[in-house]
Amino acid sequence: MSELNVVSISEAQIPSEAFVARHLIDGSWQASADGATFERISPSHGSVVTLASKGSARDVDAAISAARLAFDKGRWSRTSGKERATLLLKVADLIDRERDRIALMETLESGKPISQAKAEIEGAADIWRYAASLARTLHGESYNSLGNDFLGLVLKEPIGVVSIITPWNFPFLIVTQKLPFALAAGCTAVIKPSEMTPATTVILGELLLEAGLPAGVVNIVLGCGDPVGAAMTTDKRVDMVTFTGSTAVGKAIVSAASGSLKKVSLELGGKNPQVIFPDADLDSAVDAVVFGVYFNAGECCNSGSRIIVHEDIAEEFTRRTVALSRQVPFGDPLDPSTKVGAIITPEHQNKIDRYVQEAAQSGASIELGGEALAVPGLKGQFYQPTVVSNVRSNMPIARDEVFGPVLSVLTFKTLDEAIELVNDADYGLSAGVWSENVHTCLEFARQAQAGTVWTNTWMDGFSELPFGGVKESGQGRELGKYGLEEFLEAKTVTMRIGRSRAPWVS
Ligand code: NAD
Repeated sequence: MSELNVVSISEAQIPSEAFVARHLIDGSWQASADGATFERISPSHGSVVTLASKGSARDVDAAISAARLAFDKGRWSRTSGKERATLLLKVADLIDRERDRIALMETLESGKPISQAKAEIEGAADIWRYAASLARTLHGESYNSLGNDFLGLVLKEPIGVVSIITPWNFPFLIVTQKLPFALAAGCTAVIKPSEMTPATTVILGELLLEAGLPAGVVNIVLGCGDPVGAAMTTDKRVDMVTFTGSTAVGKAIVSAASGSLKKVSLELGGKNPQVIFPDADLDSAVDAVVFGVYFNAGECCNSGSRIIVHEDIAEEFTRRTVALSRQVPFGDPLDPSTKVGAIITPEHQNKIDRYVQEAAQSGASIELGGEALAVPGLKGQFYQPTVVSNVRSNMPIARDEVFGPVLSVLTFKTLDEAIELVNDADYGLSAGVWSENVHTCLEFARQAQAGTVWTNTWMDGFSELPFGGVKESGQGRELGKYGLEEFLEAKTVTMRIGRSRAPWVS
């Protein structure tokens, strides 16, 4: 324990009263129809930080009715792109104003470091601004090539009512990768945040009302996957489901939504490889690997948890990675210096540990960590930064999403073997390559089965660039102009023009 950089309790104050979170339905804050509530206990400090209304199918029904009516009455879909952009920009400004409050709730509910929560909220404001630019430039197509007698138009119309279901690991960022694009398109929405992290979506709802969003355009229902999420995926009045979460729940949503053939877009799990070639800048690679695996305590779809390193440098790489891992400040997420915070629940911590112990029993070597650690003064759960070497590709630790601060190290000899290892996975979210040779990087980028490839960097994200997965990491894209397209339908309008006639019966 003394070898690790443990940050003990900070001076920061936890609010004395729990945040009260209610459903937002048709523009007003409402308790559950049956009065049920639930508590969220901070994973780092052990105290109740949120008291939330616990929704049922009745609350979902009311929320969908409101979203449907708002859409059908054109309260939002018939506004101009300029009006929509103006509101989105206002929301971005309000997010900036409330950054610290949102970040604090995000940290208290999820256990992530406060510095990372603040950066996440700043990034979210930028996405709202970017989506505003898309609202103003949204356009269809026209075809003059159909001859003199026709004009073909392709109108881009909002898809309708969208169910938005989000996970706990980046609650504010992920709702932001969906909602402003849906709003830019002219859709209305019902949102269900994770039951672990409801507060920041509720704060977003407050900001939307303050910005002047008409009632019913955005509704929020709090509660569990079943019944709340389930009702949002089966209701015929919903036109599309956009989901971020585990692959298992994503598959369940696809079958639930198939009953009414609604569109489903999915951002799911990952088991993301970073391949290190002998000619890589090792200082940068080691730093990025340490960042990639411990960021958000590894509870990250983009966690770079599967390292595939050339055998000539494997020993040096592992030694340097272990040394840098020891220096990562972890512990109290409210301390501004902390880089690795708490694990979301005790059950999840046990699951992380099972993967590590199972790998050790199958012949892998634990080079660092490999167990939970009590942080002085804190009541939550923390798992030590962990490096496991001698991992084989068929071990569960190398194939499954461990979703914790655990790095698996595998080795390769040739580019072909590296690519084979990269693609030997059910997931295909992101992949990384480290080499000074541009040909190696490009060859890798072309062959890796992944939605995103980073070369000589890891996890840089831009509002302009699409994000999403292939294989079991999902379908559809968020961010960029592709993120807007998800929420649009193409409608063809064929116009006969001019005086010529072509009667069927002459
Ligand atoms: P989860 O799948 O357990 O839950 C996600 C959401 O789905 C929650 O709001 C939950 O209440 C809801 N839900 C559960 N059962 C449901 C059902 N039957 N019908 C409808 N909704 C239901 O995921 P999680 O544990 O909250 O989040 C972690 C997962 O999310 C990881 O697999 C991670 O990789 C993934 N994730 C992916 C991305 C990405 O962009 N690809 C980003 C973040 C997280």
